[in-house]
Amino acid sequence: TAPRTTVRAHWEGTGVLKLARPGEPWSVWLFWEQGWEFRSWYVNLEEPRLRWAGGIDSEDHFLDISVYPDRSWLWRDEDEFAEAQRVGLLDAGKALRVREAGKAAVEMIKAWGTPFADGWENWRPDPGWSVPELPAGWDRAPGPAKVRSR
Ligand SMILES: [Mg+2]
Repeated sequence: TAPRTTVRAHWEGTGVLKLARPGEPWSVWLFWEQGWEFRSWYVNLEEPRLRWAGGIDSEDHFLDISVYPDRSWLWRDEDEFAEAQRVGLLDAGKALRVREAGKAAVEMIKAWGTPFADGWENWRPDPGWSVPELPAGWDRAPGPAKVRSR
């Protein structure tokens, strides 16, 4: 809840793949250890993504869910979720919608369908890929209205 700012930085850590589908209030991240040993999935509750000319925007909703290969799962960052409500970053209505989205995600986990059963743990990036350049306006205020005004 400290004041936030936009910072350009390189990813640090082992591999991560983020899967997101239009309209869903979460994305599913995959984490690996060194040597591409699969560790876990992470359901990141967030605003459904908005596409713009340079990419997509979303907004984190603080509450998350970790999911493990044995199909166990647990809520993450309940403390941050509570603090975000306490300081007014989430109002009660939005917090309720986030929790309901999380419960829907838990049902998806229990059903063990897409993406958990799809084999994404075996995905590897094409070694020929290079790091793309950030698009112009990457640090603009999010939202489609701002894109149209540029
Ligand atoms: Mg999150």
